Amino acid sequence: MGKVLIIGAGGVSNVTVKKMALNAGVFTEIMVATRTRSKADKIAAGISNMKIRTAQVDADNTGELVALMKDFKPDIVVNLALPYQDLSIMDACLACGTSYLDTANYEPLDEAKYQYAWQWAYKDRFEEAGLTAILGCGFDPGVTGVYTAYAARRYFDEIQYLDIVDCNAGDHHKAFATNFNPEINIREITQRGKYYEDGEWKETDPLSVHRALNYPGIGPRESYLMYHEELESLVKNYPTLRRARFWMTFGQEYLTHLRVIQNIGMDRIDPVMYNGAEIVPIQFLKAVLPDPGSLGENYTGQTSIGCRIRGLKDGEETTCYIYNNCSHEAAYKETGAQAVSYTTGVPAMIGAKLFLQNIWKKPGVWNVEDFDPDPFMKELDEQGLPRHEQLNADLEL
Ligand code: NDP
Repeated sequence: MGKVLIIGAGGVSNVTVKKMALNAGVFTEIMVATRTRSKADKIAAGISNMKIRTAQVDADNTGELVALMKDFKPDIVVNLALPYQDLSIMDACLACGTSYLDTANYEPLDEAKYQYAWQWAYKDRFEEAGLTAILGCGFDPGVTGVYTAYAARRYFDEIQYLDIVDCNAGDHHKAFATNFNPEINIREITQRGKYYEDGEWKETDPLSVHRALNYPGIGPRESYLMYHEELESLVKNYPTLRRARFWMTFGQEYLTHLRVIQNIGMDRIDPVMYNGAEIVPIQFLKAVLPDPGSLGENYTGQTSIGCRIRGLKDGEETTCYIYNNCSHEAAYKETGAQAVSYTTGVPAMIGAKLFLQNIWKKPGVWNVEDFDPDPFMKELDEQGLPRHEQLNADLEL
């Protein structure tokens, strides 16, 4: 039915490719292209029911991408490289008449400031070319936007308060490791907190606002207010929101290591001279930290990510908590990956599947909540990320 080109061969890509191969009736031809081809070859070698093609590509180089895409002629490119590559890949898609999907919004390499403005600026060009771009189709962003759209339509006349809660209650048995690309992860967590309230964005010092929240099947975990990219699009798409916040759990060990990394300057994103060569400390740090894709083997526990929403239905205040719990062990058993890669890789596959089935297809550049949430919710239930719903429960927030 459709040809897909996946860029990147890290932890998330590994899951997406495995899940696409399980949906081989839709994904009839798959190519994985990345900077280090041996990593794509390793992913391809893990698939037995269909042949996966691989290629080497520098996704910062639009010319290289165009040459590859003109040869393979994909229907959609699924960008599972890093946020720095979003624009060069979108440029290549426009040049080749190919649709696009990603899981993280663009961020310039030299400035830790991600926002949708850069990618939303492509809307007219994608629309005129009749191409679809689906932005932020992982779990958060991704499923959290779909949950919000689903709940807003099904349970509310007006949603007013949204809290996205992301708990990783797993243990990888390493002193310090990040669950996805360390450079992107540390850049995200060390920035100032930000949330939306009464029509304006309010800033907080990094990780300065926190409280214990109860997660189903897990119990209380200290949760930290952070800025997260889906807040930007959800506030725009749901103007009735009076407040929108994002919370993520961190253990004390993680925070202690993070503080040391910051104190000694290893989170710096500007180049420093070392032995006559320029190195970027955070990139060097990535090279010595555990590869997130390798954490799965000893990972125990589970993640719990969801949306806690309060609003009005028939004039009455009502609440809804929609969430998924994902076991690290079960994710590893199925795909060889831990739950953070799994919860990102599965929704990326679902978004591409719905595109190829013409269900999530409309010219322009869109966030996930711009599409019909129901077919996505059905796929989540069937593809390993079932939702749970609690209505009129105490949201704690
Ligand atoms: P990894 O670091 O494991 O993998 C990234 C891959 O991209 C690697 O194969 C890397 O190649 C490749 N790559 C990097 N730069 C280039 C380039 N210039 N050209 C070609 N390939 C390149 O990351 P993850 O798999 O953990 O994460 C993938 C994406 O998913 C990230 O953008 C991350 O932000 C996003 N994400 C989204 C989440 C969500 O819920 N929405 C949650 C978690 C992650 P090499 O191996 O050679 O370095």
